[in-house]
Amino acid sequence: MSKPLQAIRGMNDILPEQTPLWRYFEGTVARLLDNYGYRQIRMPIVEFTELFKRSIGEVTDIVEKEMYTFDDRNGDSLTLRPEGTAACVRAVLEHGITGGGQVQKLWYVGPMFRHERPQKGRYRQFHQIGLEVFNLEGPDIDAELIVMTWRLWGELGLRDAVKLELNSLGTSESRGRYREALVEFLSAHVDKLDEDSQRRMKTNPLRVLDTKNPETQAILVDAPKMADYLDDESRAHFEGLKARLDAVGIPYVINPKLVRGLDYYSKTVFEWVTDKLGAQGTVCAGGRYDGLVEQMGGKPTPGVGFAMGIERLVLMLEALDKVPEELSRQVDVYLCAFGEAAELAALSLSERIRDQLPNLRLQINAGAGSFKSQFKKADKSGALYALILGDDELAQQVVGFKPLRGQGEQQSIAWDALAAHLATCVVQG
Ligand code: ATP
Ligand code: MG
Repeated sequence: MSKPLQAIRGMNDILPEQTPLWRYFEGTVARLLDNYGYRQIRMPIVEFTELFKRSIGEVTDIVEKEMYTFDDRNGDSLTLRPEGTAACVRAVLEHGITGGGQVQKLWYVGPMFRHERPQKGRYRQFHQIGLEVFNLEGPDIDAELIVMTWRLWGELGLRDAVKLELNSLGTSESRGRYREALVEFLSAHVDKLDEDSQRRMKTNPLRVLDTKNPETQAILVDAPKMADYLDDESRAHFEGLKARLDAVGIPYVINPKLVRGLDYYSKTVFEWVTDKLGAQGTVCAGGRYDGLVEQMGGKPTPGVGFAMGIERLVLMLEALDKVPEELSRQVDVYLCAFGEAAELAALSLSERIRDQLPNLRLQINAGAGSFKSQFKKADKSGALYALILGDDELAQQVVGFKPLRGQGEQQSIAWDALAAHLATCVVQG
């Protein structure tokens, strides 16, 4: 017997019970982004492997061990995108839409792919909403990104459950000087570092700050601090950001060890973290990457962005019981019809009602059935009301209007008056 067909480990179906929450989340973010003047961009899911190597950096977890890379039939090496920034930069360069200092405020949503160990909040296909801003170099725009996410947490009821961590990585020059000092410090303690950190010390020393190893963490207490190496410009930028967050009243903590996994960040880096999801605590992460566009072959172009993980935020909404009540009901009205003639009348009546009430969620019974079976389906649909059309109603051009959730008696309503009646008793979201 052949094995039953299955999805790939770490790549999940999002079932109809879950999609209302996803759509609520994505819809809330999309509306917010529209209101702040961001425009959506859609990039392909597959790109040349070279793109990610050049932008993310060869010595990162993503490029070293997490990418889904394969040769296509032409022999080109392609990769399922592990994140969105690289493709977004490629797209703006390819279409010349950041040339001459043009400001672009862009966002995207979609699946990303990383070959990681699947666990709660960590998958191999996961979804991000990401945002990138080009050609604005001041701290005002860094602040806007954070203020916007703060508003989002407010709308979703998550403000108390997240914490903002901030750091500045300086310019590539000051980061270079810091890196030297850090390597010197790490070299003096190399025997006591964990194996991963010994390797990273040579390839990507800042990542050592990210270590989860307690012994290495203890040694790092005395390591040089990035803040002491910041150039004046980065320092002023960071102060400008903090002043704006203070003005809005957004709490934050400075985390000098926050370095982010990707190579291309400079100046501002930030993460929104939660303790409600166990080990997978970062729900939104981003920062400034002023050198990336040039590194990818464009003119020097400041950039800043973030990405949030949709699965983790959906998990949080569920864990904290912040799923809006109205999402559980998908049908307002269920229309039952009995007999061929009534079915025809029901169909044309329902189309007229849809013309008049475009937001009404009206489900018409399919597959005929007895009174009992149609009522059962009406009730199971979650509808607030059932409409009943049999031979008697047909003759009188009325429908039976029956509350299903205990709000009063059944009554008879003329077809012509039905839309107006529904408008008064169904609250439409
Ligand atoms: P982590 O440290 O958790 O691996 P990261 O630094 O690799 O995260 P980013 O590349 O910054 O993550 O991606 C931005 C956001 O996307 C993360 O903060 C997280 O919410 C989400 N994310 C990243 N990887 C995964 C994954 N494998 N499964 C689910 N969500 C993810
Ligand atoms: Mg990761």
